[in-house]
Amino acid sequence: MPKRFQNYIDGRWVDAISGKTFENRNPANWDEVIGTFPLSSKEEVDQAVKAARRAFESWRLVPAPKRGDIMKKAGDILTARKEEIAKQMTREMGKVLLETRGDVQEGIDTAYYGASEARRLFGHTVPSELPNKFNMAMRVPIGVAAIITPWNFPMAIPTWKIFPALVCGNTVVFKPASDTPATATTLVEILLEAGVPPGVINIAHGSGREVGNRLVEHPDVDLVSFTGSTMVGKRISEVASNTLKRVSLELGGKNAQIVMDDANLDLALEGVLWGAFGTTGQRCTATSRLIVHEKVYDKFVSMVVDHAKKLRLGDGLKDNVDVGPCINEGQRKTVDEYVQIGKGEGAKVLAGGKMAVGDGLAKGWFYEPTVLGDVTPQMRVAREEIFGPVLSVIKIKSLEEAIAVSNNTTYGLSSSIYTQDINNAYIAIRDIKAGITYVNSPTIGAEAHMPFGGVKETGNGHREGGWTVYEFYTEWKAVYVDYSGKLQRAQIDNAE
Ligand code: NAD
Repeated sequence: MPKRFQNYIDGRWVDAISGKTFENRNPANWDEVIGTFPLSSKEEVDQAVKAARRAFESWRLVPAPKRGDIMKKAGDILTARKEEIAKQMTREMGKVLLETRGDVQEGIDTAYYGASEARRLFGHTVPSELPNKFNMAMRVPIGVAAIITPWNFPMAIPTWKIFPALVCGNTVVFKPASDTPATATTLVEILLEAGVPPGVINIAHGSGREVGNRLVEHPDVDLVSFTGSTMVGKRISEVASNTLKRVSLELGGKNAQIVMDDANLDLALEGVLWGAFGTTGQRCTATSRLIVHEKVYDKFVSMVVDHAKKLRLGDGLKDNVDVGPCINEGQRKTVDEYVQIGKGEGAKVLAGGKMAVGDGLAKGWFYEPTVLGDVTPQMRVAREEIFGPVLSVIKIKSLEEAIAVSNNTTYGLSSSIYTQDINNAYIAIRDIKAGITYVNSPTIGAEAHMPFGGVKETGNGHREGGWTVYEFYTEWKAVYVDYSGKLQRAQIDNAE
């Protein structure tokens, strides 16, 4: 019998009110059921928001350093359980163990960073324009935060959001992706074990349309932090505008790695293989385009094709597997559709280009690591997010052209340039329109204490990670203390 998971609402583990459930299966072996999960409805969301609202009144008064101590403890528990959680995550969403360990590690780093930030949360003191008056600006918690997450970083992304939300004194209702509900449940269990009180954290499983949408429209939810597709992000922005709640959107990407004629090609090769095919290309920061200088194009592309063909597909729990499956049947279908679109537009399939059904792969959503050559910047495979193991290669003649091609997309998350010329590097840093630029390393590899997010349709200007996310989860309160003993009128009494 598969394990039966529950929601955690108002301090209790409970089934869906309707009793309905959904299944979660291993994408590398669809015969294996990870568990069944409650298919929640609006009612569960309303209960969870009510509990979170009530709990906010006491949680906001807990000193921030004490809240930070709980994050420290959560980090310790994650550390102790790292291997077990990584294995569960690989079974649940397919990426290889090396990467799921990294995913948990990012949660650990975020916990310890949160514990330290809890002792900072700095405000400002500012001189008053009037005598015998003291001005300060301090940060205060906001209220109930709805956390809506995707499946590709099942531990890291929820911790990026939930830990700072809690450190800042907000309470949380968490709606994880339906493809990774088990890892999400583990995170909630860990927070409870670490000492988060009942009602402060709640989790409601279910669909985005029902559970996610209700959270976004709910009048008593103050904040929405969402990571997912640009399409859903736009919808969330629209719905949330009715209640004017604060919304952070981290959305899609179409990231490019530029390889200049003076690049260290061996290094650039390692970078592109890791960037394009790590997590089966299912990262918001995945290298989806390779922009190569014409002088090294033939040589470098043949190096990439050679190595892409040698990548070993399989169950990420097994040794020597480089690339896991796509997350589900729909995603694999989308990947294949894009390959067909690319072919129709005139791109050449240089490696892969089809579903993988070899030994041990027949029951998983595997797709061969694919390299498309002769891609031009106008093609859809050069502009749209595919979210799978597909790399589109584009030839350029100059740095200016490389940067123009890199910018030729509605997204602006990550970017990379390989060059030995410091001038090239700094021009790229200046002119690439993206939230992140890497020099001589791939488009993936964010660190927990740095700002993370993108420009254009990758988001709405907020950042996760580092100190920047703490701005999102707090409100500035301006405080004036007048100790003159008389009415002092700003802009009037001090005008002469
Ligand atoms: P998705 O947009 O389909 O779903 C994300 C979450 O939103 C899920 O929990 C889903 O149930 C929920 N949801 C769906 N419809 C909703 C609605 N109408 N209202 C409220 N919630 C709703 O994305 P996905 O397939 O899970 O993830 C892949 C996408 O996420 C890619 O586009 C990828 O680039 C993006 N992503 C972005 C970042 C980033 O930080 N920029 C990181 C990881 C993934």
